[in-house]
Amino acid sequence: MASLAAAAAEVAAVASPTNQLSTGQGQLNGEEPATLVIHHSACEGHQIPRHFECPARSHSIMKALSDNFPSMPRQLAPNITREELSLFHTERLIGKVFARCAASEQSGNLVSLDVDTAIMPRSREAITRAAGAVAHATKEVAAGRCVNAFCCVRPPGHHATPDVSMGFCFFNNVGVAAGMAHEQLGFERVAVVDFDVHHGNGTQAGLEKLPYAFFASTHVGYGFYPGTGEAHERGKFKNVINMPFLEGTGSGDFRAAYADVILPALREFDPDIVFISAGFDAHEDDPLGEMELTADDFGWVTREICAVAADVCNGRVVSALEGGYNFEAISKSAVAHVQALRDAAAAQRGRAAAAAAAPAAAEEGVAGPAAVGEGPEAAATDETAQPTLADAAIAAAAVETAAEVAELEEAIAKLEVTEDAALTPTAQS
Ligand SMILES: [Zn+2]
Repeated sequence: MASLAAAAAEVAAVASPTNQLSTGQGQLNGEEPATLVIHHSACEGHQIPRHFECPARSHSIMKALSDNFPSMPRQLAPNITREELSLFHTERLIGKVFARCAASEQSGNLVSLDVDTAIMPRSREAITRAAGAVAHATKEVAAGRCVNAFCCVRPPGHHATPDVSMGFCFFNNVGVAAGMAHEQLGFERVAVVDFDVHHGNGTQAGLEKLPYAFFASTHVGYGFYPGTGEAHERGKFKNVINMPFLEGTGSGDFRAAYADVILPALREFDPDIVFISAGFDAHEDDPLGEMELTADDFGWVTREICAVAADVCNGRVVSALEGGYNFEAISKSAVAHVQALRDAAAAQRGRAAAAAAAPAAAEEGVAGPAAVGEGPEAAATDETAQPTLADAAIAAAAVETAAEVAELEEAIAKLEVTEDAALTPTAQS
């Protein structure tokens, strides 16, 4: 296991979830958002000096997404609640993180949680909005108000276990949302696919003993941080798949792992929603990763995951940023990722519209998975087919919060992509 080089009063309640809706012009123009992008400028408030996991990461991605998809629907991330965090984390860890936040806010100093995971005075809101983004995206997908979503948030989450913050991660953003999907939103089976170059040990720790959960990860193994994710780690119900690679692995082996093993297993598991831990640090230009992927590979794997989701769960996919530390590489990779999500969502909307136009065929059961009438399936299908009161409410909220859109745009524009990220930490998300 690689060592981690040194790097860089519990509150009564997390700020209440504002759930404020703020959308890009796509939704303001009356179009239903097929793919949502969720972000919040507060995520850029968490900044540890000379740390790889820096604000320029999410900023550079948001700028690239805005440049490439100027009309993409966007929403501001709400704060997560303590109750929601408890769907994945122990009360002990939740209390510990917020106590450290309070200590940093009071002292103005950095407060460490592990050797390369530290809190500064502006970390709290970044942490709660990062987790809140993925939870909110999951609710939006569950309600059928979008087909899929990408959460461009930080700090990342996949190394955070139910009881331990580590590897730049405080709370497990995807893990919390996966717990919510099952416990609160009626999804029977939930799946997480993690293509970050590091093993998603925290997510695995939370899901491996749950019969309704599936976790698959590709990563560099054999001692690479965090030192877990060997192929024999299969979970209590054989519901975990780890595909560790040697350093230097490129596109061919990466794609083969998905085509031959992970995607067939995902399809067999038959999830009701698929989460993606989208780390882009397996890119060939990443300073911390040790793989040789390109942006095209991230687009490819996203399309393939979405293709399975289209067949088994009406295309429901919620993706969240994890690692990735070369700003240009992660920007190009995120654009390829979101392009694939958008293409998949558009195709899903097309299928739903065709099904709605042919009700007789749907009644005869030939309309595909969209016709399956279990809980979230039915809700998503219905809301996909025609505008609802919820859509109207969103449209109204969008008008009210147009100023927030402008604020977000302004905040993004002001941020500069700096190259001060480099140097110390060796752990990463
Ligand atoms: Zn990583």
